[in-house]
Amino acid sequence: MNYMKYLSIFFFEIGAIRPPSEGGSCSLLIRLTRNCPWSRCKFCYGTIYNREKFQLRTVEEIKKDIQSAEAIADEIKEVSNQLGYNGQINTAVASTIIRREPDLSESQCFIMVFNWLISGGSTVFLQDADSLIMRTPELIEVIKYLKETFPSIERITSYARAKTIYSKTLEELKGIRAAGLNRLHVGLETGDDELLKYIDKGVTAEQHITAGRKAKEAGFEYSAYVMPGLGGRTFSEQHAKNTARVLNEIDPHYIRLRPFIPRTGTPLFDEYMSGKFQITSPHERLREIKTMIEALNLTSNLCFDHMMNGWRKKSGEVLFTQDYEGYKFPEEKGRVLELIEEGLRVSESIHINAKDMVALPYL
Ligand code: SF4
Repeated sequence: MNYMKYLSIFFFEIGAIRPPSEGGSCSLLIRLTRNCPWSRCKFCYGTIYNREKFQLRTVEEIKKDIQSAEAIADEIKEVSNQLGYNGQINTAVASTIIRREPDLSESQCFIMVFNWLISGGSTVFLQDADSLIMRTPELIEVIKYLKETFPSIERITSYARAKTIYSKTLEELKGIRAAGLNRLHVGLETGDDELLKYIDKGVTAEQHITAGRKAKEAGFEYSAYVMPGLGGRTFSEQHAKNTARVLNEIDPHYIRLRPFIPRTGTPLFDEYMSGKFQITSPHERLREIKTMIEALNLTSNLCFDHMMNGWRKKSGEVLFTQDYEGYKFPEEKGRVLELIEEGLRVSESIHINAKDMVALPYL
């Protein structure tokens, strides 16, 4: 095998981001669409996807990418067999391949497929921002092809806009679920209609509820992302209370907190710089989360699985666990509220402050 052959056959497109939980499980990334079809949310526009135009990819293009991932996986397994490891993937296999083709150490596709296989080859994340916007029969065809190509796959997940889920029929969603898509990662951000309008999310609280319930009825695991601090001081209380209301109505499997940072280049950053948007302090955010949690009456896992949930204990340790399963409600609701009180007793200067994070790349 020579490197030119690797380059031509072993390349497939990889989009910019995936949820941290998919990084943790070393998921294989397969790009179904490019960028975001909405590209208007005020806290996001101008960042990761929105400098580029949205594009649907054809089924043929996506299948070619899956074939390239398969070719890499086959080559890795062949070297494993040559070395007497019986298809088992280990670092000796990687070292042998890299010794033969040193340039592969810089191939993102090779490294990803290797890490995926060594982690069990069981999870896949479909990129980019809203895979469900594909025509349903085409999406189903791609998912089925992916599962046929890699029978080891146990879980396939994707980002999806609530408005897109809302627009699909229950039958369509059931068909997509039956094909093998298990979990939807959805940016709820807030359940407050005034704030949803202000940030131009393109969805109402009632549409969020309908979308969440419909996806759950179709059999999806629902992972809802909430953004503490998104409303600044102006909307803080109504953001907390109405987000709790919407979450209670959906009862998602996961609630993942992603505290707001005014990112350079976004309309909200400009409003922050001009003084129109008043960013909340670490303690104000803890109080906002407290208000939301006190009103939660659901069975979700509440997760702080992002570095921006950087509140600290007096000892300097991170206040909340940042693992991907988080805290199980209602059993651990009291524990989370206790931790919030502990965080409020610590000086604000010890906690991560969104004001200091404006230049942080999108993670
Ligand atoms: S937050 Fe999501 S839907 Fe909104 S512009 Fe960004 S990627 Fe698109």
